[in-house]
Amino acid sequence: MRNASSILVRIVLLIPLAFSIQALAGPKQVLIFSGGWKGHFPQETAVWMQSALENAGFEVTRSDSLSCLDNVESLKMYDLIIPNWTAGEINTTQLKNLSDAVKSGAGLAGVHGGMGDAFRDTPEYEAMVGGQFLKHPYVGEYRVDRVVLNHPVMKDVPESFVYRSEHYFMRVSTNVTVLADSDYSSETPGLRMPVVWVKTWGKGRVFYSALGHNVEKEYATYPDAWTMFINGSLWAARVIEKRPENEF
Ligand SMILES: [Zn+2]
Repeated sequence: MRNASSILVRIVLLIPLAFSIQALAGPKQVLIFSGGWKGHFPQETAVWMQSALENAGFEVTRSDSLSCLDNVESLKMYDLIIPNWTAGEINTTQLKNLSDAVKSGAGLAGVHGGMGDAFRDTPEYEAMVGGQFLKHPYVGEYRVDRVVLNHPVMKDVPESFVYRSEHYFMRVSTNVTVLADSDYSSETPGLRMPVVWVKTWGKGRVFYSALGHNVEKEYATYPDAWTMFINGSLWAARVIEKRPENEF
């Protein structure tokens, strides 16, 4: 009888475990928080990103307030966090929570000013992202060139493609891996300006693309930018896993 009851106890204990394993194996969870300067169409961008990410298999939660950053334990439940908030201000607790969630393993991905020009003058945020928008003296057509050939984010992206939009001039940290760049000789002779990069922040993976002033319009016109955003989101959320020959 002792053996039978012991087996029964084990079964009872294992049932919730089985359910939690099943729950963990569900769709990857994404949080998009949107706001800030309206010139980057934060709400429209969020709607477009939600649709694109759902098509890629993610389950998406959208927030139009930074209060979604108030609880670090809630943030840690997400596989991927997407800042979509040009300029604006973040309080110390929200910034620490966001940083801690990424350090503990949540991915961070975003584009253009929504991630690269958010919360100016917050050094820890800039260090986590790997760069900060400074200016875009040129708006027009420019060429985006692949730098790294074998990174999963660059899968199905051609060696070079033309893009027409604001050409971001950024301050970029030295601890990023640049995946694509562009010629910025018109502003500074000989300068190659990073356009797409990846990095890590603690245990978290970070993806950034400077492309996407008007995501919905530009990504429809230039599908290679769309491909990099989706690949970057999948990589940051660890849907695309580490490859043996690659440190990421
Ligand atoms: Zn812009």
